[in-house]
Amino acid sequence: MNGKRLFLVVSAALLIVAANACKKQEDSSGTAAIKKAAVLKVGVKADVPGFGLLNTSTNRYEGLEIELAKLLATEILGDAGKIRFEPVTAKTRGPLLDNGELDMIIATFTITEERKLTYNFSTPYYTDAVGMLVKRSSGIGSLADLDGKTIGVAQSATSREAIDAAAKAIGVTLKFAEFSTYPEIKAALDSGRVDVFSVDKSILNGYLDSESVILPDEFSPQPYGVTTKLSNKALADYVDGFIQKWLGDGTIARLIAQFNL
Ligand code: GLU
Repeated sequence: MNGKRLFLVVSAALLIVAANACKKQEDSSGTAAIKKAAVLKVGVKADVPGFGLLNTSTNRYEGLEIELAKLLATEILGDAGKIRFEPVTAKTRGPLLDNGELDMIIATFTITEERKLTYNFSTPYYTDAVGMLVKRSSGIGSLADLDGKTIGVAQSATSREAIDAAAKAIGVTLKFAEFSTYPEIKAALDSGRVDVFSVDKSILNGYLDSESVILPDEFSPQPYGVTTKLSNKALADYVDGFIQKWLGDGTIARLIAQFNL
């Protein structure tokens, strides 16, 4: 190869390396797909007061998790309005993220060691605990009263394991009935098919009525994180940077106070 040809080959190779570096830098935040779509698709709860609640009179979502989504849309797309909220349940949220229908989930999603093998989670923005909703007329006052009773829990939720461990620790044996949605568990409680509706206290608040009561007992801390695909580590780091910033500068504390959480 003569000197001129060698120079050309080396220059071309350098150009390719530089172009790739540029491409990588452009998407170091993992947000290229969101920017291309010009909309942030976020899975949220529609039935959790103060976190993610669809206000049926305004047809708008409200709560801490909704505000976090708006703040993230402002950072990524420069516009808090460029969001598509998708209502999710404990059962549907993971698959909707897996199949690309959602960019992220901000929906009372508890961070667990097991789930960290499948998803990326941000630093927790809130920590709840598992509780129990019973009928006032049942006379049930605490976990100690539940020997042989049936607990209604949601599929894919952390509740069953949490309450079962707490019961075993005090020698109480429980039965379980699993449902795919919370309205079904509440209906089962009302009809007497289950004795207890168990899930995070934040979620129980959405189902509390004059006939029912949330017991003072609580089990197993439930730290909530913004959830993203395991394959997009850049997006997870980018989102986590903001959650950490908003935990540090009081933004999240202000929202928690605003929604009385
Ligand atoms: N936070 C709990 C979980 O992630 C309860 C389920 C739910 O969020 O609906 O399993």
